[in-house]
Amino acid sequence: MRRKFIVGNWKMNGSRDSIHEAKGIAEAAKNYPSVDVALCPPFTLVAGFAFALPEFSIGGQDCHVKPSGAFTGSVSAAMLADARAKLVIVGHSERREGLGETNDEIKAKCEAALTEGLRVIVCVGEPLSVREEGKAIDYVLAQVAGSLPYALLKDPSQVAIAYEPIWAIGTGLTPSSDDIAAMHGAIRAALGDAGEVMAILYGGSVNGDNASEILHLPDVDGALVGGASLTADKFVPIIAAA
Ligand code: PGA
Repeated sequence: MRRKFIVGNWKMNGSRDSIHEAKGIAEAAKNYPSVDVALCPPFTLVAGFAFALPEFSIGGQDCHVKPSGAFTGSVSAAMLADARAKLVIVGHSERREGLGETNDEIKAKCEAALTEGLRVIVCVGEPLSVREEGKAIDYVLAQVAGSLPYALLKDPSQVAIAYEPIWAIGTGLTPSSDDIAAMHGAIRAALGDAGEVMAILYGGSVNGDNASEILHLPDVDGALVGGASLTADKFVPIIAAA
């Protein structure tokens, strides 16, 4: 049985003062025990939030493939685990597109995170041109096949996929319900047995108004939420809708 999973991706937003929002979210999340809730703030806030909220799930937004070494500016999965993070997002389109991350790198990051005992959210999603050509499903399934370390899927419940169409991120646009359901169904089918336990999240302009419809579509197990996860007043209604 898959549990609903609602994850906030704060991207490059937030300060130490934002602990008030994180505490509000963690407190409210206790009212929804059937939903797994997590927040992924910037690296600078991970340890502070995780130590202040030991019962709640705090995660990173990326990790390096190596546990340590001469990689200026990078943070490893081992360091995230040491900071009491419980999960990490890998392969977000802002990193695939903006920083040229490849499926192979994302797969290696996924392996590094699983090795450190972190739950991993692997992001996939097509650009608008691919959607308009009618090739979104093929494109996303190739990303799924290329980014997941099947060899390490001993416990597939530790991995979640987030389907985030690039054109829907931060734009207020979302695919139709039929298109979301079709994509999630195709991903589920491609995952085979692992798909029985792997959560497939939708991401891209999820908010308190559209969350209920999206979260109750077939094969949608939760949401990866950007802008609407920054404050408790916007994020808690999405948790409630799950
Ligand atoms: P958004 O971002 O909810 O602000 O569209 C989602 C994401 O990029 O994870």
